[in-house]
Amino acid sequence: MLYPVDVYVDRGDLMHLRIEQGCPQCGGPVELTETDRLLTCSFCGTRNYLQGNGPFRYVLPMAKPPEAASVLLAPYLRFKGTIYLVSERGLSHRVVDTTQAAAQVAGLPPSLGVRPQAMRLRRIDAGSGASYLPRQIKAGAILAKAAAVGRLTVRTGGQLFHRAYIGESLSYIYLPLLHKRQGVFDGVTGLPLAPPEQAGKTSLRGRPFQEAWQVRFLPTLCPQCGAGLHGSTDCQVMVCTHCHTTWSLVREGLAAVDWRFVPGTGATRLYLPFWRIRARIPTLAISSFADFVERTNQPFLPRPQWGERGMSFWVPAIKLRPKVFLQASRQATLAQWRLNPVSGRIQQLFYPVTLPETEARQAIKIILAAAATAGARLIFPALPEVRTADVSSQLVYLPCVDKGHDWVQPETGIAVGKNVLRLGRSI
Ligand SMILES: [Zn+2]
Ligand SMILES: [Zn+2]
Repeated sequence: MLYPVDVYVDRGDLMHLRIEQGCPQCGGPVELTETDRLLTCSFCGTRNYLQGNGPFRYVLPMAKPPEAASVLLAPYLRFKGTIYLVSERGLSHRVVDTTQAAAQVAGLPPSLGVRPQAMRLRRIDAGSGASYLPRQIKAGAILAKAAAVGRLTVRTGGQLFHRAYIGESLSYIYLPLLHKRQGVFDGVTGLPLAPPEQAGKTSLRGRPFQEAWQVRFLPTLCPQCGAGLHGSTDCQVMVCTHCHTTWSLVREGLAAVDWRFVPGTGATRLYLPFWRIRARIPTLAISSFADFVERTNQPFLPRPQWGERGMSFWVPAIKLRPKVFLQASRQATLAQWRLNPVSGRIQQLFYPVTLPETEARQAIKIILAAAATAGARLIFPALPEVRTADVSSQLVYLPCVDKGHDWVQPETGIAVGKNVLRLGRSI
């Protein structure tokens, strides 16, 4: 049987997985996408956020409901996101969307192809009584394969300086299998995977649902004042318009985020969020912004006061196509001396944060590479050894004006196409 090859695209038109989800309060049906962290029930109005210990786990629907005990679930690891590669040929990137088998079973398709996008998935739960085949292939090996799918590997003899996965969503998708006397069958299509003599050779011993996989639904209340928090379904940071605090959705629950904004003018129509990550890079002797300008060999001289200014990396707190993401990071980082954030009140014009701070940190080496146009020969070979020190982060909203097709940030010159902003949310 033929399975379609995985898709790898450089456009923002990736499809989301759709997940059928019962409301934890009233049981009403809600449809979520894989990047959604908030569940709003249209039946009872309850709002909850999803908290899990690791990647979310879903299962493909079966053709017909079987006797539960005979169902074996085979894990696939799904990766969707941007891979950046720094090699002697420069900085390259690609948006990759791939689903690879993580178990070794005779006849198991190596990829699920487009099936997850075409079907409505369900979240796995303890109730089904199915047994789960363990993951036998390491996540790292699957990510390396994803890079190969995106052709983000170096040629033989070439040098790989750095590879980063930024803003990706990782999840497990289980393919139901039916183990019968006649062999192993694909539970979705009903077609045989392997004849009995081959099936017998591979281990088909599953284990029960693990407690650590359980996703919890928690109320979206401000931990400081108890008011209801606000956020889009795919946001990573929720805001409280009552006590003017921001809260990041982390594994442990809600964590307070230190936030600021750069005041706009009467022409401001939108504020785009950025992670300002303060960090020293001892390996490259970068402590101040002046050090950064010198080490990356910028075509301008550092001003005297830049030596006093601690180095910050400015990373968009939103998912964007790689080219725009790099451009915006580079421009904001180089223009940081023009940005003077202050504290204030949450405003209607604040755009939702869709890229968590932990992901933004992964961009530091990429920004170094992207900023080092003339200094590439010095910076690139140093990247494997680059470590950050004294890292602290802040969320900063930057004012933007409406220029027709683009949002433009006046202090930095960053221009983000309105369609790019919308499409970025599907990455
Ligand atoms: Zn409900
Ligand atoms: Zn509050």
